[in-house]
Amino acid sequence: MEYLIIAIAVVIVLAVAVGFLLRPSRRRPSGAPPSPPGPAGQADSAGTAGSAGTAGEAGTVAGLGTATLPPAVPGPAPAETEVPPPLAGRMARLRGRLARSQTGFGSVLLGLLSRPGLDEQGWEQIEDTLLAADLGVGPAHQLMTELRTQVKVEGVSGGDSVRALLQSDLIEAIGADIDRSLHLGPHGDRPAVVLVVGVNGTGKTTACGKLARALIGDGQSVLLGAADTFRAAAADQLETWGNRVGARVVRADREDADPASVAFEAVAEGIDGRVDTVIVDTAGRLHTKTGLMDELGKIKRVIEKRATVDEVLLVLDATTGQNGLRQARVFAEAVDITGIILTKLDGTAKGGIVVAVQRELGVPVKLVGLGEGPDDLAAFEPATFVDAILGD
Ligand code: GDP
Repeated sequence: MEYLIIAIAVVIVLAVAVGFLLRPSRRRPSGAPPSPPGPAGQADSAGTAGSAGTAGEAGTVAGLGTATLPPAVPGPAPAETEVPPPLAGRMARLRGRLARSQTGFGSVLLGLLSRPGLDEQGWEQIEDTLLAADLGVGPAHQLMTELRTQVKVEGVSGGDSVRALLQSDLIEAIGADIDRSLHLGPHGDRPAVVLVVGVNGTGKTTACGKLARALIGDGQSVLLGAADTFRAAAADQLETWGNRVGARVVRADREDADPASVAFEAVAEGIDGRVDTVIVDTAGRLHTKTGLMDELGKIKRVIEKRATVDEVLLVLDATTGQNGLRQARVFAEAVDITGIILTKLDGTAKGGIVVAVQRELGVPVKLVGLGEGPDDLAAFEPATFVDAILGD
């Protein structure tokens, strides 16, 4: 009987204890955000600082209308730990990627110029080769005239001297002494800002990611701004790059948000987080030229309220030839370009577009894309390029 009473008592105690434990909880579920500290509706700071420093705040940017920015992407831990090589010198390492160019106009020119007793028809073929390589009418004609004069005056003969002549003339046409340096790195407590523009599909987002990776490898902190708000996929792609390379990404939380607002927020966070360089990816829709001009102009003006735009880099697909040049012109009208990133140079046997686009825009090719890998972006070096297209 005693045992029965003790057993009943134990059951009652257990029931009370279980009831206590299962009572409705007032605590928030794990993972839910804490109550806002400020007035109702005020957004929380969220995310942790990666290389970019402080986390962002959700909110709208005054005067810019509608873009509601999420608390940015949490600072990622870089997934890739190996240090990428510096941008300078990469072109020599990747010269094999210019293999298609080696079978292209450089070697055709060498063959034609080496012909004994080069006649008028031969010179016409040389000019046609230069034009077909996308050099442009003016530069092709100029190069031809120089070659003709030199062959006549110096009486060049033999493979080596022809090669040396072509090499020096091509390097001169490309411009050996042009300043191709990227003006990056912070100004006091302000980050450098790079605006990346160009038609969709040229390799803009990829270039932003590769550049961020190279700069981070060089010891800089980088923040990426996804101001192509028209395609969620573009922001997702940039975010993937950010996670890969250890750069924080500021993006809008819905399509069609104001791109200038995102750019402004990215720069503001870059300043707060004492980031070295902010790279802003933009949309490249060409079908509304006026809209594009308004948009890029506005993005630049808005950024300049907080920082200096150090570089406006136009991304151009080397395989698009004259069509690419037309696009370049439209962008140059919309915003002052400071340099060109010529992508997909690994996919063309032409390469003369380097000369044509520089002539067209009056700004240097600073970087070239030589493949889809994370380190396939190189500082453009004319001598290495010409060496590669003429073959060793
Ligand atoms: P965006 O629309 O201008 O941002 O273009 P993306 O960055 O999405 O690139 C479009 C495609 O081009 C992707 O498949 C890239 O991998 C590819 N791409 C970019 N740069 C290069 C390059 O230098 N060489 C090659 N072969 N492909 C590239």
